[in-house]
Amino acid sequence: MTDTNERACPQCSQPLVAINVVDQLGHGRLGALTFTLDEAAKTSAWSGKVKNAEGVLKGYLCPSCDRVLFYAQRGD
Ligand SMILES: [Zn+2]
Repeated sequence: MTDTNERACPQCSQPLVAINVVDQLGHGRLGALTFTLDEAAKTSAWSGKVKNAEGVLKGYLCPSCDRVLFYAQRGD
């Protein structure tokens, strides 16, 4: 289910390359970038996970101008 090359850079019209964008949480832990439609993210006290997350952000890199675009991937 890769959607690589389905998206193009709005500036150069180059096909975008799917990239992994991760947040370094410290202590070597990595997390996917999450988004919420609410003004503030609510996190679970014990798991530290975002409770009101709508989904994750998928990153795409333009190989020509190095612009990175994010697309929402809901329900993750
Ligand atoms: Zn570009």
